[in-house]
Amino acid sequence: MPELTDMNYLRDVMNRHGFRTSKSLGQNFIINPTICPKIAEYGNAKTGFGILEIGTGVGVLTKELAQRADKVVAVELDEKLFPILKETLSGFENIKIIHGDALKYDLKKLIAEEFPAMDVAVCANLPYYITSPLIMKLLEDQLPVKTITVMVQKEAAQRLCAPVGSRESGAVTVAVAYYGKAVKLFDVSRGNFFPAPNVDSAVIQIEIYPENLWNVSDQALFFRMVRAGFSQRRKQLSGVLAGNLGISKTEMQEIFQSADLAPSVRIEALTMPELIQLSNVISQNQRENSHGTEN
Ligand code: SAH
Repeated sequence: MPELTDMNYLRDVMNRHGFRTSKSLGQNFIINPTICPKIAEYGNAKTGFGILEIGTGVGVLTKELAQRADKVVAVELDEKLFPILKETLSGFENIKIIHGDALKYDLKKLIAEEFPAMDVAVCANLPYYITSPLIMKLLEDQLPVKTITVMVQKEAAQRLCAPVGSRESGAVTVAVAYYGKAVKLFDVSRGNFFPAPNVDSAVIQIEIYPENLWNVSDQALFFRMVRAGFSQRRKQLSGVLAGNLGISKTEMQEIFQSADLAPSVRIEALTMPELIQLSNVISQNQRENSHGTEN
């Protein structure tokens, strides 16, 4: 069968199935034959591994994954791609494509059912309109995966791999650092896609820590604090948190002092240990207050 990165074949298969790419679904398909093998190889597609893919497009990455890993399960939202995939992925016995929205899908259950006794990794050329929420979901669902290897917009790659406590960081940076370690693998310019998007891309990898590294006493509070802080990142964090958590400004300033932080600090200046210390002091304060009202 001709290669899916061959523009003539890609056009032909799309035409025969009356398929047109959708901008709103983030459909930009890889047409450079060297990229998908690289993603698959960096991404742990190998014997002993099951791979979860999000967004198959016409199956160009899916195929490379299936040639290397024991099994590939992909979640794809666009039903119109299914007749194409039936053609392009015919002959592969180790691929299963599920129709669904990856943002809403119970991926933990899917992994337990589809990959028993296999190591698991996530590999994808992500739909860019949902990069951050998807990565947040993959992390917060605490999927039993070794690595998450994804193509994202270049700016998103910078944010995902930025050090916590730098200007490039965001809530997603903290989530990545909480669950693992992110590195950029390589850049991919816009001309490598059909249709060409108006941004460049990069492939990054998050290596998930096998066990939690951090001593956070209330994880939900920690992430609420991080989200609230970055939603108003240019403002003084103590004021933002006082409003968001319903604590008086004076009390919040005392909390900052106990955490050895200036109340005027902005969230983007705080390192991971500082963020954790702050959330632990807030959580202790909340526990003490709730005991106070009980007595
Ligand atoms: N991996 C392919 C396609 C990438 S384009 C390639 O590299 O060529 C992104 C793909 O994600 C498209 O197929 C799009 O239909 C799919 N997609 C978009 N939103 C989705 C969602 N919420 N859940 C699952 N798939 C989605």
